[in-house]
Amino acid sequence: PRPLTGKVALVTGGSRGIGEATALRLAADGAAVALTYRSRKDKAEQVVEEIEQAGGRARAVRADSGDAEAVRASVAGTVAHFGRLDILVNNAGIGVLGPFEGISLDDVDRVLRTNVRAPFLAAQAAAAHLAEGGRIISIGSCMAERVAFPGGTLYATSKAALSGLTRTLAKELGPRGITANLITPGPIDTEMNPADGESARMQAGLTALGSYGRAWDVAATVAHLAGEGGRYITGASIAVDGGFAA
Ligand code: NDP
Repeated sequence: PRPLTGKVALVTGGSRGIGEATALRLAADGAAVALTYRSRKDKAEQVVEEIEQAGGRARAVRADSGDAEAVRASVAGTVAHFGRLDILVNNAGIGVLGPFEGISLDDVDRVLRTNVRAPFLAAQAAAAHLAEGGRIISIGSCMAERVAFPGGTLYATSKAALSGLTRTLAKELGPRGITANLITPGPIDTEMNPADGESARMQAGLTALGSYGRAWDVAATVAHLAGEGGRYITGASIAVDGGFAA
């Protein structure tokens, strides 16, 4: 049997990029997958179709991570639909980069709601349903591990918060046999950070490998943590960053 047969996963922001690759990978490993999106319904439905065509089970739900009730409802809806929840992947995130002086109050609220409040609330809602062996996996960023260029105050602030959340969740949920871990990707070729973008050469040059990673590289580590290989890993931060933070 495949490693995640019988498990149910919820991937936030599963319509594109790292979340899409993660949804496809967890489904390939045998999990039933619920994925959320904010606006790209077409892309989310394509991911579901691809999973179903391969014989898997999947479901796409619109849930803006900025909306607390929508976040909670996405967890409850997953449990209602698939009957359980084993793996939460907090992936949905936005980046607002630019000089510190120019970051508006609205930017601060929007980024913190999406990148920090949503993972917190999703973890809280998920924890009520996770059984022994449950997994909470959040996607942080190498930019909260090493500050290699200016302009990342708000983004790094939001991603650094996930480190505190992850380590404290590990302590709090450990007695129930539930793990919580953080993955910190480096530059990954997605719509958010295309490998042919304006600053791509600079970013690639900051890694040890000298190149961008693929969404699939991050998904592979999510799959490792979600599976039996992740049994004794908790409260950890795992860099999938080509050596950006080395
Ligand atoms: P993309 O912008 O390519 O995809 C973002 C995904 O998140 C989409 O599925 C999008 O949905 C969804 N999303 C965005 N905002 C919301 C919201 N408010 N509510 C619900 N869903 C939302 O991003 P990546 O795949 O590159 O990034 C995924 C995660 O990885 C993010 O947390 C990002 O910060 C992090 N990361 C990315 C790196 C990179 O270099 N790419 C590096 C380090 C970390 P929709 O399609 O509907 O818009």
